[in-house]
Amino acid sequence: MKCKVCKGPAVMDIRRHNAAFCKPHFLDHFRNQVARTIKEFSMFTSDDRLLVAVSGGKDSLAVWDVLIDLGYDATGFYLDLGIGGYSTRSKEAAIAYADAKGAKLIVRSLAEEHGYTVPELAKLTRRVPCSGCGLNKRYEFNRAALEEGFDILVTGHNLDDEVATLFGNVLHWNVDMLGRQAPVLEEKVVGGATALVRKVKPLVRLAERETAAYALLTGIDYVIEECPMVEGNTQHRYKEAVALLEESSPGTKNHMYFGFLNRVRHRFGDEDENFELVPCAGCGAPAARWDAAAEPVCSFCKTKRLALGRKQQ
Ligand code: SF4
Ligand SMILES: [Zn+2]
Ligand SMILES: [Zn+2]
Repeated sequence: MKCKVCKGPAVMDIRRHNAAFCKPHFLDHFRNQVARTIKEFSMFTSDDRLLVAVSGGKDSLAVWDVLIDLGYDATGFYLDLGIGGYSTRSKEAAIAYADAKGAKLIVRSLAEEHGYTVPELAKLTRRVPCSGCGLNKRYEFNRAALEEGFDILVTGHNLDDEVATLFGNVLHWNVDMLGRQAPVLEEKVVGGATALVRKVKPLVRLAERETAAYALLTGIDYVIEECPMVEGNTQHRYKEAVALLEESSPGTKNHMYFGFLNRVRHRFGDEDENFELVPCAGCGAPAARWDAAAEPVCSFCKTKRLALGRKQQ
């Protein structure tokens, strides 16, 4: 296996590109793919302040690393979900990376901010852990970005993540979700102020295997173990199904995702006309109001009220 660029010994092959690379040329390829994605989707400029949602895993640390190396003003944000030793070790990985790179990291914890951990929330609401976890992460990432004055929220979603989401949305014909699935989610202004910060996914051209290779080859010490609550995660099952298709037909993931973006997505609106977004009566975040007479309360506040109400019983 020879490097496509210098013909030296390759360390990484990428079947969907029909190419292999030596270490320096793979790292170049990886950074170029990120830079190309940022440009292609006009994600942000060097004047923007970026907040990177960091989990301690390979994807978020890799995207943070590339953004810093490309010269962007990128601060990390770690949210402690309180998932036992897994959260302890992922927090340590995020802090160790920030220290080694001299990068700024903001750390917050669900228990301190709201009085519950993800496992407690799942028990109190009687829902699968990933549902409350996803809702709280989205809410806290956005809140941190707004409070700390960031222009852009960056996540480490890679091609495999996006294809698994797309696959799930198609299986269930989640038409609203299909309209909102994109590498850039625009800022939303509610009641005259920014309510949702612009969200971007610069790793959508890179597969999970490539972000793992990037982290390994650059010496990033990421948390390899999976979250112990991943069992009930349907996204995980879709990823496995798509991986089987990719194995027998390299390029399937790329084709499915970029085919959707280029040829299909415009058929779905990115706004739901059945409701309007108004400030939540509890916290001011955007809440969907279906009925003008009802008090608007966002899904985060509803879940928190339910959980803390049951906790006090
Ligand atoms: S697997 Fe589920 S519970 Fe664990 S971090 Fe991911 S979304 Fe949260
Ligand atoms: Zn080479
Ligand atoms: Zn609210």
